[in-house]
Amino acid sequence: MDQGFAICPVYPPENTIAGIAVNRNGQRFTTEEAYHAVMGNDVTFKQNGVAFFICDRESDRPLGSDNQPLVAEANTMAELEEKAGFPLGSLQMSVAYYNEHAAKGKDPMFHKSKKYLSPIDKPPFKVYDLSVDKAMYSSHTFGGLHTRLTGQVVDVWDEKIPGLYAAGRTTSGLPTSPYIASGISVGDCTFFGRQAGKYAAAEKA
Ligand SMILES: Cc1cc2nc3c(=O)[nH]c(=O)nc-3n(C[C@H](O)[C@H](O)[C@H](O)COP(=O)(O)OP(=O)(O)OC[C@H]3O[C@@H](n4cnc5c(N)ncnc54)[C@H](O)[C@@H]3O)c2cc1C
Repeated sequence: MDQGFAICPVYPPENTIAGIAVNRNGQRFTTEEAYHAVMGNDVTFKQNGVAFFICDRESDRPLGSDNQPLVAEANTMAELEEKAGFPLGSLQMSVAYYNEHAAKGKDPMFHKSKKYLSPIDKPPFKVYDLSVDKAMYSSHTFGGLHTRLTGQVVDVWDEKIPGLYAAGRTTSGLPTSPYIASGISVGDCTFFGRQAGKYAAAEKA
């Protein structure tokens, strides 16, 4: 159980993907359209658990957010930056850079899809907290028994343990950190479950 999974959903609704996620220095670190577990992995393990979501009127959540608390709200980016405690000029610089390219349908840093690119320039501007100790994260560990492709369990010397087969979440299978897409778990347990059943039945016969 040496790896972790951390879900950090900045969307839905879809309009929020036009906002940006930044670290404690007001800098972007990934594309906001990333799968929730990729965003969670980045915040948890690469940004020391601290991140924020920046949006304007159009990229805001229509119902606010219980899971990611509101940190600050302002009518200018300079005021927002000061209220939320980012280093002087950092958030203004990140947003100005993002807006300049978003207006042309480009994201040179993280290549967010064009349909989610829109300048953050319509007040009020808001900061939501994505930090692991403030926002709601779903999380669990990855890991388990080591197996061959046949589903046969091996010991620490990579020797087969006679008659023991395993698949799915009892094993250290395909799901690892970062968990890049939904479906990996079901794919893993169904494919290797079938393998294990097939080889176990053959061995018994
Ligand atoms: C809320 C949620 C959402 C998920 N969403 C996705 C998703 O979108 N995509 C994806 O790929 N994965 C998803 N997963 C993960 C995926 O569903 C699981 O990884 C997968 O179902 C695990 O399958 P499994 O066969 O290994 O274990 P399980 O499905 O847990 O099967 C284990 C079975 O063993 C039985 N059992 C336990 N003890 C005993 C015993 N002593 N004797 C007999 N039977 C026993 C249990 O009753 C159970 O039926 C999600 C999981 C959850 C909880």
